[in-house]
Amino acid sequence: LRKEQIELEKSKLRRLKTAKSETIDGVEVQLFANIELPGDVPEALQCGAEGVGLFRAEFLFLHRGDMPDEQEQYEAYRKVVKGMAGRPVTIRTFDLGADKDLNPNASAGDRVKTNPALGRRAIRLSLAEPRMFQTQLRAILRASKHGPIKLLIPMLAHAHEIDQTLAAVEQAKSSLRGEKAAFDENIEIGGMIEIPAAALAVGLFLRRLSFLSIGTNDLIQYTLAIDRTDEQVAALYDPLHPAVLMLIAHTLASAEKVGVPVSLCGEMAGDPEMTRLLLGMGLRIFSMHPAQILKVKQRVLKSEVNELAPNVRKMLRLDEPGKLREAL
Ligand code: PEP
Ligand code: MG
Repeated sequence: LRKEQIELEKSKLRRLKTAKSETIDGVEVQLFANIELPGDVPEALQCGAEGVGLFRAEFLFLHRGDMPDEQEQYEAYRKVVKGMAGRPVTIRTFDLGADKDLNPNASAGDRVKTNPALGRRAIRLSLAEPRMFQTQLRAILRASKHGPIKLLIPMLAHAHEIDQTLAAVEQAKSSLRGEKAAFDENIEIGGMIEIPAAALAVGLFLRRLSFLSIGTNDLIQYTLAIDRTDEQVAALYDPLHPAVLMLIAHTLASAEKVGVPVSLCGEMAGDPEMTRLLLGMGLRIFSMHPAQILKVKQRVLKSEVNELAPNVRKMLRLDEPGKLREAL
């Protein structure tokens, strides 16, 4: 009997994997995988991911201490794109510094030790190290001839950072053109919304970029002033804080008005308890750890957006964490 039950579970899971990801009222919801290494691709496919929504490229090299050259990076990106066999792959440029320090044992250097999360990290570091950035951009662009790649930029806050980033991509493209190297001329460039300023002033992102991805892990950290690596304040780290929900809702609503796609790639996207809330807020693209995909899909299949949206609107007006949690 146990064996039969296990078989039944397995076949249910298989059916879930191939089922179209849409709500009862026919709203399509895209479920993507977050990956850290090319070796994560098979799991993403096994779980039915429609693509890679966040490839945290810095993990390839985090524990080495040195920077990989262009060829090594190119091969890693190509491996992921080929592995995903035509499904879109969103590669995030290096999100180094703070919780992802390239060389955590370095005692000297110009890294700010007191507040690394507020320091020279992610795109700030990339713009400050143009050679490192060009190497990565060239490697990603070269890999784009093997399949659909999108470029995702972490930790943007300022319009001039976006403009400088776009200029850096243009520079990498023009050097490749000079070498007659093939790449996707129309590669899409998107920005992460993970600083409250970015969510509030999202218009300047929408005018410059092709897509957005909300990084709630950092967005919560910066909105609530909670160091995400500090155990002592972990209990205060609350995705349901009304301020966090307001920032997400504002980002989604603003992007929808101008037809710019938005995904959410923080841990919230993979929490089945949050699926209905996020659907009701208008989120249609979720990117998460592969192990969460089918659980979230199960929720999507049982949801009805027409019914959720007005309830969520009411819920967001509650504005009280206790009441919000209850309503959830
Ligand atoms: C985030 O900040 O939500 C995110 C997806 O990126 P990371 O966790 O790598 O900072
Ligand atoms: Mg982040």
